[in-house]
Amino acid sequence: MNAPLPVQVLKQHLIDPEICIRCNTCEETCPVDAITHDSNNYVVDPDICNGCMACVPPCPTGSIDNWRLVLRADAYSVQDQLGWEELPQEKALPATPDIGGGVEAAAAVPDAAAAPSPAPAASFSQAGASVPPWSAAHPYVNLYTHKTPMTATVVGNYRVTGADTESDIHHIVLDFGELPFPVLEGQSIGILPPGVDAQGRPHHARQYSLASPRDGERAGYNNLSLTVKRVTEDHQGAAAHGVCSNYLCDLAKNDTVQVIGPFGHTFLMPNHPRANLIMICTGTGSAPMRAMTERYRRRIDTGENGRLMLFFGARTERELPYFGPLMKLPRDFIDINLALSREPGQPKRYVQDLIRERGAQVRDLLSDRNTCIYVCGLKGMEVGVLDALRDVTMQSGQDWSILHDVLRREGRLHFETY
Ligand code: FAD
Repeated sequence: MNAPLPVQVLKQHLIDPEICIRCNTCEETCPVDAITHDSNNYVVDPDICNGCMACVPPCPTGSIDNWRLVLRADAYSVQDQLGWEELPQEKALPATPDIGGGVEAAAAVPDAAAAPSPAPAASFSQAGASVPPWSAAHPYVNLYTHKTPMTATVVGNYRVTGADTESDIHHIVLDFGELPFPVLEGQSIGILPPGVDAQGRPHHARQYSLASPRDGERAGYNNLSLTVKRVTEDHQGAAAHGVCSNYLCDLAKNDTVQVIGPFGHTFLMPNHPRANLIMICTGTGSAPMRAMTERYRRRIDTGENGRLMLFFGARTERELPYFGPLMKLPRDFIDINLALSREPGQPKRYVQDLIRERGAQVRDLLSDRNTCIYVCGLKGMEVGVLDALRDVTMQSGQDWSILHDVLRREGRLHFETY
């Protein structure tokens, strides 16, 4: 542990605006609401942050893990930080600062490197683990940044939802040519859309999950795929033109895009033989599930695979991305459960309904320590899924809160919702 800092010296927590991908994870994680944002930056309020570190492990880029020693009176304000394009240089503290009498224990301003890893914060609660499964491969992150993006070429872009539906979701394949872009299933990349925002600043990056496995959309090729939904209305249903999703969905073959990343070091699949996956998703949340399923499919003959169980929600079959190829997968390879909420002539069903209906099989998988659970899609699905997992667990007389803690601690329950 470092020596305590004088009272007037603050180890100020800052977010690097050049690396941050504005995914909102830190703001959701912070247990004391010290993190806020505007259309430019995510920032930490020095008057509220208590240095608890809860936000650090979940950050997919590491942009959250920046610290500056400043005199408390000179701390960078929220307003200062909102205007930054890059972090300020470290400033030397006065050689013999007039630090007055007292010396404060450093507890409230811990050394980032020395601080013990926090227990998964109750509010990253979205109940997921902040560590990967024990056998996950080591991920590379931040190889390409805003300052050094990689140029990828579009080699495919086609719609994967019915042409007559409102849901316009595209499968987009990007090729990296000769340059390395190592990825793992469950990671995401950032896309820098061209142009500037209303304030004249370059658009910030948007994040997209990989839909292809680590060895490429086409095995052995240096490419990857994304599943992108064209945003034409905001979360409240009002008309909106999503900057990046429209840019991506309109790309033509041979166009180039600026890519940063890869990102993500926890939402990763286990690598040990006979690991089982329970995958729960809606809409474009199917991207990482496609990547993991394809990884399993490519090694189907090796005998290494555990069981795959998929819960996939959409309004109708025609709005379900990859419906055709998914339904062609052998039933003894993957247990597919489709929850359709607006299929004419059928009762409304959501993923949580199907998890309850298949409770016995879910319980059976949950009782195996080789099982990991992945949830991806709309933010609103988290509560329903957790409730359903709790119900099926409790039906066998098990205590969900204990199992839930185990799943988080062992990196076996992961959420990625947006
Ligand atoms: P913006 O110009 O940023 O927003 C336009 C308006 O639409 C705003 O009012 C905004 O609030 C609203 N809005 C933003 N996002 C959505 C949305 N998803 N649905 C409805 N309204 C929205 N998207 C994918 O399509 N596929 C993915 O695989 C994917 N993976 C992601 C992984 C992570 C970890 C995260 C954090 C996000 C992911 N997203 C994914 C969402 C993606 O990053 C963008 O937020 C989304 O494409 C909208 O960006 P935009 O520039 O088109 O819209």
